[in-house]
Amino acid sequence: MTGSIPSLRTVLWRGVRRRCPQCGQGPVFRHWLAMHDHCAVCNLHYLPDQGDLWAYVVAVDRALFILPLIAMIFFRLYNPHSVWFYIFSIVLLLAFVFTMPRRNGMCLGIDYWMRRKWGDLAKDAPPPTTTGPKG
Ligand SMILES: [Zn+2]
Repeated sequence: MTGSIPSLRTVLWRGVRRRCPQCGQGPVFRHWLAMHDHCAVCNLHYLPDQGDLWAYVVAVDRALFILPLIAMIFFRLYNPHSVWFYIFSIVLLLAFVFTMPRRNGMCLGIDYWMRRKWGDLAKDAPPPTTTGPKG
């Protein structure tokens, strides 16, 4: 693996487009939510450990769906007798379902970005130069 670490914004955008977080070209999903094992273009192994995404999924879903609901209730916009309450609820439910692959792609991008930052993908990187004494 060569090159600099892409910015978080870049990997999030690649996730929204459901593309590989590393090269931005290979598709992440074969079907609705069935993920390819490797990128067809750069051969990145998307998820070495299954289940690595759940924490990111929880965080992203809370940021996109739960927090607006809490804000709506906090500011007393919650009115179950209004037709807008039902319209808003249906729109939110549809958005929750139909953006699922894009949110999972974003989560995969965050996972990839964290793995690059923490050096988990360093085994493919060129070896670091040693500055210590030879012995
Ligand atoms: Zn790729």
